[in-house]
Order: sequence, then C-alpha cells, then structure tokens
Amino acid sequence: MERPSEADLARARALLVEELEAQGIRDKRVLAALARVPRHRFVPPHLVPYAYEDRPLPIGSGQTISQTYIVALSTEALALRPDDRVLEVGTGSGYQTAVLAELAGEVYTIERLPELSREAQERLEALGYRNVRFRVGDGTLGWPEEAPFHAILVTAGAPRVPEALLSQLAPGGRLVIPVGGRWNQDLTLVRREGDRFLHEVLCPCTFVPLIGEEGWP
Ligand code: SAM
Repeated sequence: MERPSEADLARARALLVEELEAQGIRDKRVLAALARVPRHRFVPPHLVPYAYEDRPLPIGSGQTISQTYIVALSTEALALRPDDRVLEVGTGSGYQTAVLAELAGEVYTIERLPELSREAQERLEALGYRNVRFRVGDGTLGWPEEAPFHAILVTAGAPRVPEALLSQLAPGGRLVIPVGGRWNQDLTLVRREGDRFLHEVLCPCTFVPLIGEEGWP
C-alpha cells in the first residue's frame, strides 16, 4: 500500500479520537493527548497505513504497540495531574510513554529489551519530549530510587500484581495493570487509600506477557 500523506494521517488520527469518544472515553485531556501524539511515528514503515486503526500492531522483537482504546482507557483510569510522577513498565514502541508525557510531570519508563528501549528513546527525543527517563531492566521490581509514584502503568500481562509496584505507589496513587493468564487478562485499576489497596476490573484484555521476577518466568 502507498504511504499516506501527512494530511491523510492527521485526518485518520482525528477520526480515531472521535471513535474513542464514541466508545466512552470522556476525559478531554486524554482525548487531546491522543489527538496530538503521532502514532504512525511509532510503528514500522510498512504498517504506517494501519497506524490509526484501533488495534495492536507488531513492533518487532515479538512485541506489540497496544490497541488505542486500551491506551485511552488505561490513561483515563490513571487520572493524571500535570505534576504527577508516573512509572511505566513496558516501554515498547514508546507510544503510551508519549501519551503519559503529554499529561504528567515526569515519566519513568522501564523496558526489558534494550533494542526497543533505544528505539523508543530516539523517537521520543525526535518528537521533543524532555520529561521522560528510560531504563532497561526488569520493571516488575519497579524503580525504587525514584519511588513513590502517583501513578503506575504496566503494559504487559501479569500473573498477579507485583508487590514491589504496590510498595512504590504513593498514598492516593493509581496503578493500572493487566492481570490474569498468559494470553488473557483483566485490565485492573488498583487505588491506594492509606494502607488499603482497592481493586476494580476495567475490561478484559490481551497483552504480551510481563516477564520477570514478579511476572512470568
Ligand atoms: N506501551 C507499549 C507501546 O505503547 O508500544 C506497548 C508495550 S508491549 C504491549 C509490552 C512491553 O513490555 C514489551 O515491549 C515487553 O518487552 C515489555 N516487558 C515485558 N516484561 C517486562 C518487564 N518485566 N519489564 C519491563 N518491560 C517488560
């Protein structure tokens, strides 16, 4: 397929955001962030024509860029404020990282595959994001030196909520994580109220596995 023009891509992005609103995403700041971030810059060149379809796409190394609806729903559930410090586990292409960076003060993102982390860093720098820090490693252990975080987002499927991430959540903090089996999970919101953690299932989902000490072997 021929590469679409920048104008076609901008139109497709605007249409996708309208669809997300029709599907129930209400937070205007989240919708505006999705309207700004050029998803086509985060997918391999041959997939650019499909960048604004609401589905996951392969990004290499057996990994995926998440479906836009799930990105929108997860981000909305995090209820980010402009000064929030956010931890993301699973940088992948860096697309979700960019959406978080639009809405929060500082974003700390961890990816276990060095190649993906490097590519995401190059993309985000080229797009002008200056409030993101990258780390290569096992994100199931969090980023203890920078904790606590107001919000934590895990973008890979976990067998259970990692204890390390719960302990790095600030009081009043929000954690969104897919929890369940290796191929099917529930997107789950955990809210910390004092020493209590309240769990709410947002929707069923399918993420690649979270691999690590507090994830899958
Ligand atoms: N948010 C990404 C995006 O917008 O492109 C999609 C992330 S992809 C669905 C999940 C990512 O989590 C993969 O890149 C995978 O390598 C990474 N991952 C899996 N286990 C991890 C771990 N323990 N720590 C950090 N990253 C991990």
